[in-house]
Amino acid sequence: MTFSEILSSIAEEVETCKIISCKNNLEEIGNGLRAYEKEHNDLPEWLSELHPKYLTDSKTLICPADEDNGVPILTYNIDPNLPVSYYYEFDPDYREWMNTERRVYDDANPVVRCNHHANIDSESTFVKSLHINLSFSNSIYLSEIFWYKCPEKMYGSLQAAITGYERSIELEPENPDFFKLYPELIRLYVHAEQDKDVVSLIEKFKTVMKPDEDIMRFRDYFTLLEMLRAGNKHTEALQLCKHLEKTEQKNPWLKSLYREFAVTFEEMGNIEHANTYYLKYDSKREMLGKTAPNFSATDMDGNPISLMDYRGKIVILDFWATWCGPCIGEMPNVIKIYNAYNEMELEVIGISLDQDEAEPREFLDKYQLPWRQIFDGSKGPLKELYRVGGIPSLWLIDREGTIISYGIRGAALKKRVGEIIDGN
Ligand SMILES: [Zn+2]
Repeated sequence: MTFSEILSSIAEEVETCKIISCKNNLEEIGNGLRAYEKEHNDLPEWLSELHPKYLTDSKTLICPADEDNGVPILTYNIDPNLPVSYYYEFDPDYREWMNTERRVYDDANPVVRCNHHANIDSESTFVKSLHINLSFSNSIYLSEIFWYKCPEKMYGSLQAAITGYERSIELEPENPDFFKLYPELIRLYVHAEQDKDVVSLIEKFKTVMKPDEDIMRFRDYFTLLEMLRAGNKHTEALQLCKHLEKTEQKNPWLKSLYREFAVTFEEMGNIEHANTYYLKYDSKREMLGKTAPNFSATDMDGNPISLMDYRGKIVILDFWATWCGPCIGEMPNVIKIYNAYNEMELEVIGISLDQDEAEPREFLDKYQLPWRQIFDGSKGPLKELYRVGGIPSLWLIDREGTIISYGIRGAALKKRVGEIIDGN
């Protein structure tokens, strides 16, 4: 064993320990919630309400992998009474939705989750990261961030998952909030080799989908496309893409159809066509590996700022806005990366796309982010220069000024920055 292999095996062991003690925490929280529910006939608004009567040790609410010990860097859906690292949404805004989900998933869905065991091998975003879930029925299982995409783990077996999702769809066949379960059930049918059920579920969805009720008009078609691909009916999927391309020429969201083309071609093994459509979908792709466009602007403190001045440093350009929940949600991660690597010449430049400069000003007065900020506005020149559509949009630029990525976040971003620092 080499030294680095020994180190990584130790790291793995530590991580396993943390996962085990996190599971123990969730088990105790689960017992507390059951006892609370028995007495109040309802769940508490916040997990801190379990302490001390239903949960003796308040430290149980802290995951051992949570480096911040339950103390949030930014205030965002935060337990008002105690430091809590676990994700639990039963405040009045979400209570009704949580109860609907609970009914539809028959108690198999998560009531409490831990998001602190991110799998840093994940390349794209934190989508594939590891989450530990405690279900309403008090069982504990691991999943990716979208837990409903792991029904076998949720229900315990393939057949139980099929029964579970058939039941869910039967309960809410025409509710668009649960249309996402149709492609999941197709995947389960394919695993179980229930080909006839694949065909009949696709036909059933065609009768309940309502594309005209969606402002984008594509949502239900995209669900149907996902079902066709999951059911290995790629030729049919491609026909539908081509049909939509003809009939939806005036649709302002037409670009997102190109992504469907690309994914379909990719799964068919036609990489050349896939790349052509990926580029049509997102023209930023051609900027990858090229020199980041230079800009000169004035920062929010009134000082001149130019990207060229940062040559020799690693730069994260963070396009954000105060109204963008995921942007704010990503900030604690960027702060961690900044704190870990600033001494090694990592810099962050925030670029606010808010409507009004007063909005980021108020936010920054409150949270005092340690890096420079540029106000670009909702239709600013930097937004255009970097072809930014949706935010958060975090651009990673290396010491030579080359664009390394523009889409990664979370643990994957931290990992990539670490690799550049280490010279990989
Ligand atoms: Zn944990």
